[in-house]
Amino acid sequence: MLGLMQDAPLTITSILERGERVFADREIVTKTATGLKRATFAELGAEVRRQASALDALGVSPDGRVASFAWNTFRHLALYYSVPCTGRVLHTGNIRYFPDQLVYTFEHAEDEAVFVDRSLLGLLAPLLPRMTTLKHVVVMDDGVPTPLPDDPRVVAYEELVGSADQADLTGRITDEHTAAGLCYTSGTTGNPKGVVYTHRSNWLHAIGSLTSSVFGMHDGDRVLPVVPLFHANGWGYAHSTIMGGATLIMPGPDLSPAGLVDLMESEKVTVAAGVPTIWMGVAPLLAGRDLAALRAVICGGSAVPVALSEAWREAIGVPITQAWGMTEMSPLGSVARLRSEITGREEEIETLATAGLIAPGVSARIVDAVSREELPWDGETSGDLEVSGPWIARQYYKTDEPGDSFSPDGWLRTGDVAAITPLGYLKIVDRTKDLVKSGGEWISSVDLENQIMGHPKVAEAAVIALPHPKWGERPLACVVVRDGETLDRDELLAWLGDKVGKWQIPDDVVFIEEVPKTSVGKFSKKTLREQYADHVLPTAGA
Ligand code: ADP
Repeated sequence: MLGLMQDAPLTITSILERGERVFADREIVTKTATGLKRATFAELGAEVRRQASALDALGVSPDGRVASFAWNTFRHLALYYSVPCTGRVLHTGNIRYFPDQLVYTFEHAEDEAVFVDRSLLGLLAPLLPRMTTLKHVVVMDDGVPTPLPDDPRVVAYEELVGSADQADLTGRITDEHTAAGLCYTSGTTGNPKGVVYTHRSNWLHAIGSLTSSVFGMHDGDRVLPVVPLFHANGWGYAHSTIMGGATLIMPGPDLSPAGLVDLMESEKVTVAAGVPTIWMGVAPLLAGRDLAALRAVICGGSAVPVALSEAWREAIGVPITQAWGMTEMSPLGSVARLRSEITGREEEIETLATAGLIAPGVSARIVDAVSREELPWDGETSGDLEVSGPWIARQYYKTDEPGDSFSPDGWLRTGDVAAITPLGYLKIVDRTKDLVKSGGEWISSVDLENQIMGHPKVAEAAVIALPHPKWGERPLACVVVRDGETLDRDELLAWLGDKVGKWQIPDDVVFIEEVPKTSVGKFSKKTLREQYADHVLPTAGA
């Protein structure tokens, strides 16, 4: 028998309507070049409806793609609502892509309009002639007087939106499966691929994020998303904060470690979120700061080195909360919240070093790379990690068929190798492409980096595989030494001696100024592999 419940669609509009009514006075605080600007959730609702009118007035197709090219700000947040709540799809453009990637994604998305922060216009303006589907370039003045390009498509945000009527959004979305957002992967391992989120998937993802086994965000929280709104659906914060009634602190263009720590202190931030390189930059500035309000520093996108998490604990008493996910997963997959069984300090550190407990709503399995047989959850056996759930993609945008990235029964192949503990924590061994395949064994570059970054003189480290005549591949460590310190190859390798198996010790170490970063601030091993393609390992002649 079918149930007798109402069939109300799960829409982003419903998140907004409840948020602005129930939490009308909660704020969105945006850091700008001229100081902090504050707006309430009620004002957010009004801005969203004015933007919605403007989209209608521009004549953007009812299901057209609208791009954003912006910092984390109030107006960018409003676009997360106005675009989908009018039936259109928000393509959050990645401001750190190379020019060709930008043109590729804008053309691929067939964006009809772009809302661009004036301070970022310099990056976009030279590419506009190559963006052939764009009809409107809406410039959001943020006080930085970048010259406006001589392009008839340019229109000022204030003129278009400032005095627009407030459109009625209620009831405009009747099908929860309507596309709402489009985000391209950050291109860490290859060309960007488009992932389309729906009203339903974002709604469920927000609910999942609010559970206490995930972030447990609530109306007393003051949340600082350092993660850009264009990285992996902005980690869902645009929806979960409004649903939870949490105040949002938007950092705008100032992502400097000093700017972030000042903002965390002055705005009494309780939850902050970003990739490891962000928190590595902030860690040395924590001493003596008043961050008593902070209860969670969420960190994902790459493995979190234990030394980083412990440095935070030492400085302010709050270790880092590791999370794992993917653009394809909206992105929530797992968060390292401590289950009640985990009590002792050792066990706690070990658990925080995992990628986290599988989130409610997400199903995970590990399978053998060859036989595709499912493997046990014993915390040791590792295999290809596959996931499924209502906020996980089943296909990439504009592909005819799911292809190799999805299993025949529709699960997403994450490209990660992992083990799962009996309690349901994921231990990510590595990305398949980053594993060092040495002889018959795999060496985890993540494990090696974790150990090397535990050395007190090391600031950053990335490990890549280089070809080796005898072993197939052997590890090369690329290491950045802390300012004012000296470290040589032998000292580092000797120190690793009692921390990893002898056969896992890198064959060579190169000291570099900085690890190259991807468009979302991850270590770019693709770039390092290109840079060291001709490097000959000292063991290669042996
Ligand atoms: P891209 O693949 O282009 O970097 P994403 O940001 O969606 O784009 O990256 C998802 C991938 O990031 C995951 O498949 C995984 O390899 C990596 N990742 C994310 N979080 C973690 C984590 N906590 N530990 C290890 N790897 C992680």
